[in-house]
Amino acid sequence: MKHKKLVSVIVPVFNEIENIDPLLERLDPVSDRLAERYDFEYVFIDDGSDDGSFELLAKRATENRRIRVLSFSRNFGFQRAIITGLLECRGDAAIQIDADLQDPPEMFVEFLEQWEAGNDVVYGVRRGRREGRLENFSRRAFYRVINALSEDHLPPDAGDFRLVSRRVIEALDEVDDYHPYLRGTIASFGFSQTGVEYDRSARERGESKLRWRKMVSLGADGILHHSVLPLRIAMWVGIVMIFAMLAGIGIYVYGKTVINDELPPGLATTVVLIMTSIILNALFLAIIGAYVGRIYQQVKRRPFTIVADRVGYEPVSESASSADEPVKDPPEAGIQSGAEPAG
Ligand code: UDP
Ligand code: MG
Repeated sequence: MKHKKLVSVIVPVFNEIENIDPLLERLDPVSDRLAERYDFEYVFIDDGSDDGSFELLAKRATENRRIRVLSFSRNFGFQRAIITGLLECRGDAAIQIDADLQDPPEMFVEFLEQWEAGNDVVYGVRRGRREGRLENFSRRAFYRVINALSEDHLPPDAGDFRLVSRRVIEALDEVDDYHPYLRGTIASFGFSQTGVEYDRSARERGESKLRWRKMVSLGADGILHHSVLPLRIAMWVGIVMIFAMLAGIGIYVYGKTVINDELPPGLATTVVLIMTSIILNALFLAIIGAYVGRIYQQVKRRPFTIVADRVGYEPVSESASSADEPVKDPPEAGIQSGAEPAG
């Protein structure tokens, strides 16, 4: 029998009990329609739901052989849920989709076509969002700001509805981020990417789980994560301050010694001392900022390089790759990793 490719559908679930059955009713026909070419697995990540979502999923898993369910001990957040799903899935490609059916599963067909055409990342680009106008606008503005600040090029209006290839998942496995911002991380990998336009519909059941507080913290992750721009701004402000204060000192000293008019006694001395201390603060903050920026980039441990293709190398066979694993897995791996040039 011809080997079919496996496609994993990653679904983060946080209190979505009303959405689970409607979602399965939409997913299955798509999977059935593509069944000649692909096998599907649905990887549900229950992100600490307390409304019985997990129990329902576990029940559905006994009825539907495509379903696999992972359940977190508590709510860890959307980003970590999808990353865990991607790392746990077995597919040759993985498609991430929200549980609330805002993104149409029917788009899988096009995503897979684009993947087969050689793209490692296929993301949905929102043509319009059927949400409140204010919400629409503020979200757009919000992503634009993150994009502007980010050093990685993020595709505008692309959401988290996307397909990634196995190579991307492997690269993701190398990343060690405590505050992940997946969109940016995937963009930073490079690889060939393409967008497919679609209409994002409104959530019909349940309410949005990404409220303002979460959006703001996600925004902060997006900015802080992909950029040392805030640090750099602090550095430049510091440098400008140094020159401004030097000029200020010059003016006061000149005034006191050359013009020597109505300055009250002691004022020039005080001002010069204050300005000197501002200079020293600005100077040292600029220096510290420069070092912290570097430390930050180092600590993030982005993959040193990502090899996309190899020519003239023996293809890594199934048995060879599993023989490699014992070297990587034991707890001593941490000690050995010091020898890796990529560290
Ligand atoms: N979600 C999650 N953990 C969270 C918040 C949300 O797994 O802490 C899931 C949620 O169940 C949904 C997806 O992430 O499947 C997107 O959430 P939501 O629809 O609330 O976001 P929005 O569409 O409003 O941006
Ligand atoms: Mg939603």
